[in-house]
Amino acid sequence: MPRPAPETIAVIGAGVSGCALAAQLRRLGHRGPLSLWETGRGAGGRASTRRSREDPQLAVDHGAPLLNITAEPAPALLEPLLAGGWIEPWNEPVAMLEGESRLNIGRPDALGIGRLYRGRSGMDQLSQGLLHLAGDTGVRGHFGVLVRHLELTPAGRWRLLDAAGQLLEEADWLVLSGTLLAHPRSRLIFDWPEVPLERATRHLQDLQLAHALTTIAGIRFEARSNLLLVFAGEAAVPWRALPFRLVNFDAAAQQRWGLRRISIQPLEDGRCAVVAHSSHAFAADHLDVYGAGSAVARQLQLPVEEGREEEVITSLGDALVQCLAPWIGTMDPQEAEPRLMRWAAAFPLPPGLPPSLTLCPASRVGFCGDYIDGVGFARIEGALHSAEHLAAALLAAAPSGAPCRPAGS
Ligand SMILES: Cc1cc2nc3c(=O)[nH]c(=O)nc-3n(C[C@H](O)[C@H](O)[C@H](O)COP(=O)(O)OP(=O)(O)OC[C@H]3O[C@@H](n4cnc5c(N)ncnc54)[C@H](O)[C@@H]3O)c2cc1C
Repeated sequence: MPRPAPETIAVIGAGVSGCALAAQLRRLGHRGPLSLWETGRGAGGRASTRRSREDPQLAVDHGAPLLNITAEPAPALLEPLLAGGWIEPWNEPVAMLEGESRLNIGRPDALGIGRLYRGRSGMDQLSQGLLHLAGDTGVRGHFGVLVRHLELTPAGRWRLLDAAGQLLEEADWLVLSGTLLAHPRSRLIFDWPEVPLERATRHLQDLQLAHALTTIAGIRFEARSNLLLVFAGEAAVPWRALPFRLVNFDAAAQQRWGLRRISIQPLEDGRCAVVAHSSHAFAADHLDVYGAGSAVARQLQLPVEEGREEEVITSLGDALVQCLAPWIGTMDPQEAEPRLMRWAAAFPLPPGLPPSLTLCPASRVGFCGDYIDGVGFARIEGALHSAEHLAAALLAAAPSGAPCRPAGS
């Protein structure tokens, strides 16, 4: 009797949940081939770090600056990440800015309650640590590749193709760790005529998958336009001296300044990175401005609209100057290498996808990510839980305890 061949799993997305899925599958004993396909240059997704080859000291968390664990049991992957030194507790002071310019030190918002952690020397270390836990054997990461088309062969295998229609991989199972290929927003962002997963599975009679797709299609997102600044020399001194590292804005302050949060990230060489996260309302009004460095702009080879981008940068910079003037004094954001990073789908809004729809065995499709309902929804905690849940479900889907089927079938 031939031994059963381990089945291949293709995971689209190497953000926290995609990397966590790879790590948890390995921890649970899955040894089959697993690939990760990521359009970004590296792992991390919305919890990634901007780095530069020309400036090795630069590390700016331009998405999530931290993660918080609010409920027990904590994700099982947390402990090995801590033990491996990939993440560390974050005990810095947090402040809340009120609309009347009153600063309330020590008052967290929903992203600051519970136990707080951050990636050691950058949030991307969280995903790097997860990839480390996944191990080298059998895990193949492909970066800088946008999976554009999905196809199902008559034998029920998944084919992943790029924008030119070139085959990237054929796999037994498909996992979407981001919503892009299953959500109508891809039609708006990329001008695609159809939602790729919907198109590939329209002919199937898989009611569970159809239910999952309509539920995902109904998810809405909050957006963020983030201004990245790096202050050097004298200009960095007042930032580094502030008695807090994170400022949240209450509803009135968001309305007044168009900002939601400011993350202050001192660099080891004396500089200070500052990331001003816009309010959802501000980002929604400027959704057409991507930021020249964004992956979407690169993928679509969009012309850089310098005028529009300058406007958004100036507007966010002015808001920052005004709201923190009492604590920072005068500052000129234009001297701090301003850059814009737009997150069109920064935070999914409830309701998300119910856990019962995250594995569709008939079509061999799985979903994980912070858009799955449950503890930590719309946060890293939820991305980790969703991956652990899917890993267990994937393994249970095959009687052998690992996703396997007889070779040659
Ligand atoms: C500005 C900002 C601040 C935040 N602050 C916090 C915070 O303080 N605390 C917290 O817990 N959470 C925070 N979050 C949310 C947190 O970042 C997310 O919950 C978490 O990172 C989600 O991980 P994920 O793996 O589910 O999704 P993602 O990080 O979005 O990963 C999905 C990945 O799939 C890739 N991908 C998608 N489609 C394709 C395709 N077709 N081909 C190739 N690649 C593809 C994407 O590029 C992406 O890397 C913040 C988010 C933002 C944007």
